[in-house]
Amino acid sequence: MAWDFSTEPEFQKKLDWVEDFCKNEIEPLDLVFPYAVRSREPKIRALVDPLQQQVKEQGLWAVFLDEELGGPGYGQLKLALLNEILGRYGSAPAIFGCQAPDTGNMEMLAAYGTEEQKERWLKPLMNQEIWSAYSMTEPQGGSDPNLFKTTAVRDGEEWVINGEKWFTSAGRAADILFVMCTNGMFVVPRDTPGVDIQPYPSTHNWVKYKDVRVPLDHLLGPEDGAKVLAQRRLGGGRIHHAMRTIAQCKLALDMMCERALSRESHGKIIGEHQMVQEAIAESYVQINMLRLLVLETAWKIDNTSTQQTRTDIAAVKFTMAKVLRDVSFRALHIFGSLGMTNLTPLKDMYANAPSMGIADGVDEVHKVTVARNVLKSYRPHEGVFPTEFIPAKREQARKKYAELFAQDPELEQYADRMQRYMESRH
Ligand SMILES: Cc1cc2nc3c(=O)[nH]c(=O)nc-3n(C[C@H](O)[C@H](O)[C@H](O)COP(=O)(O)OP(=O)(O)OC[C@H]3O[C@@H](n4cnc5c(N)ncnc54)[C@H](O)[C@@H]3O)c2cc1C
Repeated sequence: MAWDFSTEPEFQKKLDWVEDFCKNEIEPLDLVFPYAVRSREPKIRALVDPLQQQVKEQGLWAVFLDEELGGPGYGQLKLALLNEILGRYGSAPAIFGCQAPDTGNMEMLAAYGTEEQKERWLKPLMNQEIWSAYSMTEPQGGSDPNLFKTTAVRDGEEWVINGEKWFTSAGRAADILFVMCTNGMFVVPRDTPGVDIQPYPSTHNWVKYKDVRVPLDHLLGPEDGAKVLAQRRLGGGRIHHAMRTIAQCKLALDMMCERALSRESHGKIIGEHQMVQEAIAESYVQINMLRLLVLETAWKIDNTSTQQTRTDIAAVKFTMAKVLRDVSFRALHIFGSLGMTNLTPLKDMYANAPSMGIADGVDEVHKVTVARNVLKSYRPHEGVFPTEFIPAKREQARKKYAELFAQDPELEQYADRMQRYMESRH
């Protein structure tokens, strides 16, 4: 029986180890040294490196990459189960070598890079010797790639890049930027003359590229292949975000339930009030629905490809934002005034929920993708009435019994009576 919802015991042991490791090692690091993972300061590295070493010893480093690229080749389904834990702790993805935005960029390099490009950028990215950012969105509009204007013009042995990008996450901290131009995807070292990174908005930088010159071999994939590469990159990024979002939603549910059992109002614990129970029940169901959608999508990616799973990835993408918003709102509300403070994770979680519906493509666009692809497997009905028009279907069905009715008129009379009864109900 193939529809098995259990985790194989060997991998479950790994997940149990991850759970303990995150609780005992990563959570304290997050609370006391929140940005430690990206630090190059030796005293801070002394805290982070041994943790990463333990992850490597467990064979859990960069699990999203295939074996030939240095990962364990676990695939997306196992990554989903892992990310359901890691997503709860800010530093955990980087401690496990599967942090955004590098994972998507690494996947793009793995799929489209030449051997030389992989050697130069993929390996150091995997080892976190360098960090990367993804520069696609432009100030005049992000949802429609046809509006992008950044160009790369060939000049002798170089490409000359001109344009502006907006919301390049972690741009300032990156060593290399993956820049989507109208005519290709390019890898641009951050310190190349002409790369001007504004310190805002927040950590998602406005980056200006003015006469930026890179050698010809900094083109990734085919010339004019930027949109295909972007789809590949964003598809992976979206599902990874969703896996981590499940972890956030579960945290909100855990907090909601603990509070519901701990707080009293109007003579009973609040978990005994029906509206609080409704919030718990709705959250439990929404999280499980999201989780099943994510796991099935991950399974499909493993068994087909990211490209062939676009409809499911788009479905996951807009569902995660809604579930996170709904569940974190309910949890925050049940926490009352405490929920409105920054003394618990809930306020940040709720404040971040809209960005899940914007980053990597706005929900509206993903809904259109799902609807269009779903519609592709349907055809219009002939005539005025739909295929499921009951009188026409019944007439067709009666033909199946024509011989029987000829042999037994009573049976036909019975069928007539039943038909009159069914019709009289309307
Ligand atoms: C936290 C975060 C991190 C990000 N990181 C990166 C990054 O690392 N690199 C990068 O390149 N970009 C990044 N982005 C940018 C992101 O990809 C864009 O914000 C996104 O594609 C939307 O573009 P926009 O902001 O220009 O919104 P717009 O395209 O202006 O859309 C705004 C609104 O218009 C409506 N709308 C737009 N198009 C349609 C449509 N077709 N149908 C119906 N309604 C529509 C929707 O309501 C939409 O929310 C990030 C964004 C966020 C929030």
